Order: sequence, then C-alpha cells, then structure tokens
Amino acid sequence: MKVYMDHAATTPVDSRVVEAMEPYFSDKYGNPSSLYTAGLEAREAVEDARGRVARLLNGAPEGIIFTSGGTESNNLALKGVAFANRKKGRHIITTKIEHHAVLEPCEWLAKQGFEITYLPVDEHGLVKPESLEEALRDDTILVSIMHANNEIGTIEPIEELAGIVKDHGAYFHTDAVQTYGKIPVDVQKMNVDLLSLSSHKIYGPKGVGALYVRRGVRMDPLLHGGGHEFRKRSGTENVPGIVGLGKAAEIAEKEMDRDAKKLTRLRDRLIKGALAIENSRLNGHPEKRLPNNANFVFLFVEGESLILELDFYGIAANTGSACSSKTLEPSHVLSAIGLKPEETHGSLRLTLGRQNTKEEVDYVLEVLPKVVGRLRQISPFKTDFVMEE
Ligand SMILES: *Cc1c(COP(=O)(O)O)cnc(C)c1O
Repeated sequence: MKVYMDHAATTPVDSRVVEAMEPYFSDKYGNPSSLYTAGLEAREAVEDARGRVARLLNGAPEGIIFTSGGTESNNLALKGVAFANRKKGRHIITTKIEHHAVLEPCEWLAKQGFEITYLPVDEHGLVKPESLEEALRDDTILVSIMHANNEIGTIEPIEELAGIVKDHGAYFHTDAVQTYGKIPVDVQKMNVDLLSLSSHKIYGPKGVGALYVRRGVRMDPLLHGGGHEFRKRSGTENVPGIVGLGKAAEIAEKEMDRDAKKLTRLRDRLIKGALAIENSRLNGHPEKRLPNNANFVFLFVEGESLILELDFYGIAANTGSACSSKTLEPSHVLSAIGLKPEETHGSLRLTLGRQNTKEEVDYVLEVLPKVVGRLRQISPFKTDFVMEE
C-alpha cells in the first residue's frame, strides 16, 4: 500500500486544476500585458484567478499580489514593509515558531539594522496576547504571526492578536500558508493587513502563491521592473500557475467544509490509535489545531529512522519540518514548546489530505507500533532518560 501523509509539505495537484491550467501552456500563451487578443485572454484568466483567490479570504481583488509562493510572499511582506516604513521605526515582532520563510528574512533584516523581538509560545504552541502587548513599542512597525503552525498544527488566535496591534498603528502580517483553503480565512474578521498563501499546499501547482495587502499599506517591492502586480511585483505573470491557484481556490471554497469534517475524523482516529503506543505524546494544541495535522513524540526513537522505516512500508511521513530535516538540528518549534532535545528527535508529523481514507489510517496504525517497537529495541537513547508525566 502507498500512503501519502505529508500534505503539510506539499499536496498532489488536483486533476481539475491540471485541466484548467493546460490551455495556458500551449494555446493561450499570450503575455497578459499585450494588447492583442491572445494577451487579453491571458489577462482575463489572471484577473479571474485574482477574484477567486480574493473571495476565499474576503479581501479586495486589488489587494492580491501574485508571487512565486509562500516564501516570496513572506519575504515581500517583511522586507517590503520594513523598508517602506523604516523612518517611522525599526522594530518588528514575530514568534519563535514561524516558518523559516519568516525567520530568515527577520534575521537578514536584523543585519540591516532592524530590531526583532521573538515572542515565546506556551506548551501547546499558542502565543499569549499579553506577551504581544508587552513587546509592542512606539517604534514597532510590523507584527508577523503565523495563522497555523506547519509542524504542530496549532491555530493562533489571530483575530485577538491583530486586534491588539490595530490600536497601536503597526501593521499585522500573518503567514496563512497552512490555513488558506483549509479552514476559514477572512482578512476583515481577522483584522490583518497582510496575508501570505501558497498554491502547492492546497492542491495547486508549485511555484505560485500570493500576498494579500490591504489598501493603504506602505510596502516597497522586492522586484523592480515593468511594474506588474500593481507595481508591487514586477515580472511577466506565471499565467498557468496563477490559473491553477485560482482553480484550487475555487475548489477549496466549495469543498473546504466537507473536507475539514472528513479530515478531522481521520485525524482523531489517527491520534487515538497512535497514542495507544506506550511512551508517546501528541504535540500541539489538543483542540485548536489544523483538521489534517497529527504530530507525535515517540520516546527512545530516532525520527529519521522512523521516516525511513515507514517509507519501507510505503508510508510518506515527516519528522519536524521538511525544510530543516536535512540539518540534524532539533526542530525550533518543538524546542519552543518545551521539548528536550532527546524528545524532539523522536517526532513524527503525519498530515492528511483530501485523498486519504480510513483504510489508509488503519494501515498506518498497524505499521506504526511495529516500527516504533523495533526501533526501540535497538535504541541508544533508551537508558538515557525516562518519560516525565
Ligand atoms: C510551505 C510553507 C511556506 C513556504 O511556502 P512555499 O510556497 O513552499 O514557498 C511558508 N510558510 C508555511 C507555514 C508553510 O507551511
């Protein structure tokens, strides 16, 4: 059996999305900036997609800037706002559990003379509103807090956090790559000024995403050129990719609620079954979590070995985050929620998707105890410590 349970890393492209994209590679190849029919056709397709992407977050279509993905959207939000507002202040607030596509731009900005505060999180990965209130200063220009964490699935109280910042005058950005298209995302209700999303996490193609920017936000572009995307992101538009993202958003709008219900059921079945394995623990918030995310620690087990063993059984899973699993450093997210290095090593992330079935969950639950048991027999960690309750 082949089971893909790494949908937080990427998703298969929906066949309806592939079909929608197809004509824009071959027949309808016009440049959206050209004035003849082929160009106008491409322009229409891009604007149609913009409308669909905007509708799924309840924002104005003029606020959608198409980018090359979540990483670029986060870079544009952080660097673009930082440089456009540097006369007003140089202080930025973010959290310790952001994706590297937020943390790395922040580190780079620190080298350019900006000052970054990294908010802590509680044991479930939640940012405490009081800690944000305390961190805000007169020279704070931007706050960036992710909507849901890609590793542990915890959903942050963005509405409340952004509400605090609203009265203060700083801009609020959220990395919604793990939530857009999966759970309701509403920029009005959430009170956010900027929001990042990515196509390949919602059954769209890789290499395309968007940044929502509320009207009136001062933001410099990263890419200067022909003035595309409201002068905020120059470069000929990735028309097939944008069409694909638009289609993925359209499908998500119709199917999100039904998918979320199904995924929640499968997730809870998975969690219940996995926690029956002794010396195991769930990471992240027990309720405020993504419908498709399950993240565990299996003590005395080494995560990388677990992934390889599961792969042998045809199961694609992840330990920590895909971006950092090449380095053997413990996950910064698991460290931030208080796990010891020995514990972070035994982490397993299973993220479900549209195509997963109950039978697949049961297959994983059949394989997992066997594999964990075998790895523990040969574990060098076993005698080092015992689990604290
Ligand atoms: C995947 C991901 C990103 C990066 O998006 P890309 O489109 O792959 O660049 C950013 N933030 C979060 C939370 C993610 O899960």
